[in-house]
Amino acid sequence: MRPETIKKIKTELLQMRKETEKALEAFATKEPGNTNDFTGTFPNYGEENDENAQEVEQYSTNLATEQILEKTLHDIDTALKKIDQGTYGICKYCHKEIDEKRLLARPFSDSCIKCKNKLQKNQ
Ligand SMILES: [Zn+2]
Repeated sequence: MRPETIKKIKTELLQMRKETEKALEAFATKEPGNTNDFTGTFPNYGEENDENAQEVEQYSTNLATEQILEKTLHDIDTALKKIDQGTYGICKYCHKEIDEKRLLARPFSDSCIKCKNKLQKNQ
């Protein structure tokens, strides 16, 4: 893969990382020492029963979003690590280079289209 493409993707990944972290920080606090672990803050609307129900509902929504965002952060970090190690853009199944267009559209893809299609057919 061309170095300028890698550079472009790296910039994009760092930007995505910043945005994901910001989204997480809106409702969760970062665990000290572990940069990718966030703890959702329990909302407090009041002590009435229906208010408590609302809190629980909001909390589960937050938790689901938190898990998705944490997964995204993890995927971004994995991709960034691979860039540093020079193994970025290699399919984890067939070890061939992943199509540049696919990586530009989805920077943390870790498999090529061929392998991905094969896997989906087998499911
Ligand atoms: Zn492959």
